[in-house]
Amino acid sequence: RKLVGKLSTGCIEFNEMMGGGIDTQAITELYGEFGSGKTQVAHQLAVNVQLPPEQGGLDGSVIIIDTENTFRPERIKQMVDGLSEKYGVEYDHEEFLKNIRVARAFNSNHQILLVDSALELANELKNSEKPVRLLIVDSLTAHFRAEYIGRGTLADRQQKLNKHLHGLQRFGDLNNASVIVTNQVMSKPDAFFGDPTKPIGGHIVGHTATFRLYLRKSKGDKRIVRLVDSPNLPDGEAIISVTTPGLRD
Ligand code: ATP
Ligand code: MG
Repeated sequence: RKLVGKLSTGCIEFNEMMGGGIDTQAITELYGEFGSGKTQVAHQLAVNVQLPPEQGGLDGSVIIIDTENTFRPERIKQMVDGLSEKYGVEYDHEEFLKNIRVARAFNSNHQILLVDSALELANELKNSEKPVRLLIVDSLTAHFRAEYIGRGTLADRQQKLNKHLHGLQRFGDLNNASVIVTNQVMSKPDAFFGDPTKPIGGHIVGHTATFRLYLRKSKGDKRIVRLVDSPNLPDGEAIISVTTPGLRD
């Protein structure tokens, strides 16, 4: 078993709350309402993972399973420029984009299958200069939510989601990689879908994800990130800013 790695978020408070950064060999769930910054955090980590350890990275590449077509190469470029500015180095956008492999998932079955493809690709890249050290599923739950409506199919959905999460944990273990999943919650009560403050997939996601981060909007570009029920870290909150050059303190 390899030593757990730490992937920097680029934000001091956020890193400290996470005991140094986002763990490898673990699933970290980002949940929150629309616009809370889940996809922004995912994009930033896809950039940061490529940095050397001295700069908080894992010298690795990333696979993104994109279920809502929200990956934006342009956003990556802005964040790479942000890093160039931060470190006074001229980073090359194209290099960073090359190390981000994006797979669109068209439905929940396809999404689950893509984890197998990710495992194969990671195997191929294992001894390369940029092994896969990060897997992102954005959104983990959107397809499941759309496909399984009504109470009768809830158990089915949970079972499939559970299987999917075990596949993701396995990916993290085998590749000493961080796994990031996103999960939307509604801000206002919804009479049809039950308790809105509970993320969909409720218990199962809750028990499998090692780290659960609840994101919420604050003033302007500020976001509050709360670490919930961690097995080995105290609960806490960190404030981050989502700015054009990327996540900042
Ligand atoms: P959803 O549940 O709908 O997927 P999300 O939690 O993934 O929402 P994001 O897409 O991460 O939300 O956040 C969108 C917000 O990020 C925007 O409302 C804006 O505040 C900020 N943002 C996005 N792009 C930029 C940018 N280029 N510069 C500055 N801020 C940006
Ligand atoms: Mg999003």
